[in-house]
Amino acid sequence: MSSSEKAAAGRIYNFSAGPGCLPLAVLEQAQADLVNYKGVGMSVLEMSHRSKTYDGIFKTAQADLRELLGIPDGYHVLFLQGGASLQFSMVPMNFLPKEGCADYIVTGAWSQGAVKEAKRIGTVNIAGTTESENFCRIPKPSELTFDSKAAYVHFTSNNTIFGTEWAAEPEAGSVPLVCDASSDILSRGIDVSKYGLIYAGAQKNMGPAGVTTVIVRDDMLAGVPDGLHTMLDYRTHVKKESLYNTPSCYAIYVVGLVLEWLKGLGGLDAMEAVNREKAGILYGAIDSTEFYTGTAEVESRSLMNVTFRLPSEELEKKFIAEATASGLDGLKGHRSVGGLRASIYNAFPTDGVRALVDFMREFERTNG
Ligand SMILES: *Cc1c(COP(=O)(O)O)cnc(C)c1O
Repeated sequence: MSSSEKAAAGRIYNFSAGPGCLPLAVLEQAQADLVNYKGVGMSVLEMSHRSKTYDGIFKTAQADLRELLGIPDGYHVLFLQGGASLQFSMVPMNFLPKEGCADYIVTGAWSQGAVKEAKRIGTVNIAGTTESENFCRIPKPSELTFDSKAAYVHFTSNNTIFGTEWAAEPEAGSVPLVCDASSDILSRGIDVSKYGLIYAGAQKNMGPAGVTTVIVRDDMLAGVPDGLHTMLDYRTHVKKESLYNTPSCYAIYVVGLVLEWLKGLGGLDAMEAVNREKAGILYGAIDSTEFYTGTAEVESRSLMNVTFRLPSEELEKKFIAEATASGLDGLKGHRSVGGLRASIYNAFPTDGVRALVDFMREFERTNG
């Protein structure tokens, strides 16, 4: 066995919510490329971001993202830093006029984080929220009230902590949609033309930590106020093609490998079919017994983060400890909500979901 085969053989099932697992094929490619990238004599880790080789890596990643998501002309694809959390600030700084307002749909802790920053800039209308039900579902269309004068409508497509996901975009009429898609970007196809801006930290579903993808429609930039700090102004990054300053070169390279892997699978429709199968297996196991209880309402269930509870907190602790010992890692729910959470992002293998379901059945048999 080679040392890389040994490393691969010792890998466990990683249900971490983020940074999440990466496809093994991507890790192996990164390993093969690490010391001497395609014979250029150096690693991507030490390469100038202005070099011809890096330019190829960067432009290929952008083009592959455009192809996979079907991003129309008129949209810019940016690779920025600061995480999704900095987008909570950049979105209102760039798009929310001081005297204007924006609509926010609040479906969990990350939406609340976005609202907190927007309120520093202008008026925030809460267009809908399920906070009183501990965010166990996505609001129904009839529960949303939009302001036709809003600069944009912000929503979180997948609620990583609460395990809920929008089945389709909110219908906000002519007001541009702005979406935090950090934990479900590339899990399924979307119609990008419905959006003014989409942002996503890469570390859940598209690569390692350190890079944030922003897809922004050109006409959104017309109203950006002058006087913003250079790095916080989307126009800087559009104009300089994400190379105003040194980008997260290596993280972008790994995102590129993930995009190539997705293309090899057959694109986002093929990926969605796999994701539906994985989620179906796990929700099916939860629904087949009283011992496990899903925390999200059925119509709002996430394909990415499956949240559930056991009959007691003691049993949950025991479950997590024994699962970890069996090579099923990262199942503890977010510290703010407790319970269990299985994050089964694109890269998470179907076999790992089956292994969890087998473990759940056995745990119920011995503890139920
Ligand atoms: C993880 C997460 C964030 C925060 O991302 P950072 O990149 O750590 O800033 C924001 N929104 C959603 C939906 C997330 O899952």
